[in-house]
Amino acid sequence: ISEKHDKVFATGCLPIDQDRIDKEPRANAAFVVLARNKELEGVIQSLKSIERHFNRWYHYPYVFLNDGDFDEEFRATVKNYTSAPVEFGKIDNTMWGFPDWVDHEVAKEGIRKQGDAAIMYGGMESYHHMCRFYSGHFYKHSLLMKYEWYWRLEPEINDPFIKMAEANKTYGFTIAVKELRETVPNIFRYAAAYKRKNNLKSKGLWEMFLERPAEEEKPAEPEKKQEKLPDEILLTEPGDKNLDDIDPEAMEGESYNMCHFWSNFEIARLDWFRSKPYEDFFNMMDRSGGFWNERWGDAPIHSLAAGALLSPSDIHYFRDFGYRHTTIQHCPANAPARQLPREPYLEKTTEDEKKRIEEDEYWATADPVKENGVGCRCR
Ligand code: GDP
Ligand code: MN
Repeated sequence: ISEKHDKVFATGCLPIDQDRIDKEPRANAAFVVLARNKELEGVIQSLKSIERHFNRWYHYPYVFLNDGDFDEEFRATVKNYTSAPVEFGKIDNTMWGFPDWVDHEVAKEGIRKQGDAAIMYGGMESYHHMCRFYSGHFYKHSLLMKYEWYWRLEPEINDPFIKMAEANKTYGFTIAVKELRETVPNIFRYAAAYKRKNNLKSKGLWEMFLERPAEEEKPAEPEKKQEKLPDEILLTEPGDKNLDDIDPEAMEGESYNMCHFWSNFEIARLDWFRSKPYEDFFNMMDRSGGFWNERWGDAPIHSLAAGALLSPSDIHYFRDFGYRHTTIQHCPANAPARQLPREPYLEKTTEDEKKRIEEDEYWATADPVKENGVGCRCR
């Protein structure tokens, strides 16, 4: 870590220096929250999160908007959760609801039809009004006219740690990809041996990492017979009689599909890593010498350990988190911004990359298939 790195990477997050923050310029900006009285709980949740992680030092104002009237309880409670200025505004019928120029009955019939067709929110009139308000009106609301920037907030935004704890999750990821086979030629033989040695029955996640019977379009690849492991990579304890556990024949016909959770985004319980089973797993993998004789990444190590020790319900797929690293990205299906041309970057986009982006499109928009047991597919 050197000077060319940002300080946060060298020294960790900087202590908050309120004086410094106070001297920094502020944008002419506000948080905008569209909400209803009945969403107060969710609003508090969002406020707590944004205040705790950001706004308690920055004090950007909030503007709450509603097509109805915010009641006294809503106003008083919200003000309790921030020391920043708060304004409450009503949206009148010039910005909400059916405009004059549309036949209300025809419009309502259109909405009913979408309801009958089970289109998500399609049958909910208020939702249509909300979308239209956010499309063509909010920025002209009188309370927002004085601002140059806005940050939209919704009720019920979540803190992923708290969410994972509440849902009793151990490990969370955004992207699952295939590992480069040449970096881990023997990793699976060891991981499988660990699982067998410890009599671990799959809890359903292990299968995520198994080559499946080839699908229709692909003719089955002839199973490559793996060579016997060179003795020098079996760096087990002297006298360890478990070498036969690493016999490739002992994999019972299973082979690794190279899938792994991409660990450069990872939210997980440290106590899982600190647990005896994980520790044993790491030690066994380590003893094999694979970290030197091959180029094992931490991602397939974490993943195969999860496969051996955890069940799909322990895993959380952050499908709603946008994340990009190098050329691989995950873009949630409800954030179609990724479809915009990325000038001038687009011109430089290689064919390979274009393919990846197209694929990502597919991954992001595909139904969260229950494949792999964790609602994701491996790229
Ligand atoms: P989703 O995020 O697409 O599922 O939609 P939400 O139900 O979360 O609505 C988006 C935002 O609009 C949230 O901030 C809601 O509180 C707000 N909202 C949705 N419908 C109404 C409505 O009828 N009245 C008001 N005042 N706010 C609404
Ligand atoms: Mn929402």
